[in-house]
Amino acid sequence: MTLTRPITHHPDDGVLLAYATGTLGLAHRLVVGAHLETCPACRSRLGGFEAVGGVMLEAQAPVALASDALARVLATLDAPEPPPPAPRLTPASFPLGIELPKSLAGQGIGPWRWTAPGIEISKIEGLWKTRERCFLLRAAPGVTVPHHDHDGVELAQLLAGALVDENQRFEVGDCAQAEPGLRHQPHSDPEHGCICLIAIDGRTRPSHWTGRLIQRFIDI
Ligand SMILES: [Zn+2]
Repeated sequence: MTLTRPITHHPDDGVLLAYATGTLGLAHRLVVGAHLETCPACRSRLGGFEAVGGVMLEAQAPVALASDALARVLATLDAPEPPPPAPRLTPASFPLGIELPKSLAGQGIGPWRWTAPGIEISKIEGLWKTRERCFLLRAAPGVTVPHHDHDGVELAQLLAGALVDENQRFEVGDCAQAEPGLRHQPHSDPEHGCICLIAIDGRTRPSHWTGRLIQRFIDI
């Protein structure tokens, strides 16, 4: 994806460091990966973190292997082949109308489902019934997401349109990061709406009864 404007909102250093060291959960990795595809600045910062991580690994004292390590490895070689994975939808087959991030390649992507007035979501398979959730969100122009807070960090990468949250405007290529406990109520651009790739760690907590009602039905 080629952008014609500078990216002004990025994941913070803690998120990028976790990405570099492999400790960031898969849902958030997919969103950060999407951001890195469009953001040279974050790719550069990530390179610095990866270099630091490499130095830290080299500085660690070697750890002795368990006495049965070889036997356990050999046992896995004798184990039967796991069944082939079920066929999955690919981003190329997903009728989104926009270019999907390469970070979603190979991920199963569900169909758009009505979630709330003017809002549809598409779940990333395998990342819905877990603590970490990843999904695409499509909001019609001028739609307000129900007021909510959440247990963990929420990341939203803008793929189309624009989003306004906490008086900040996020456009294509931007990554909106909301910290745990932040109560917020983003709304989509009044002219274009928006499509975002979102990762949430933990539960969201709608502040209003309408949001709680919706949550009962869609388990977000
Ligand atoms: Zn960035």
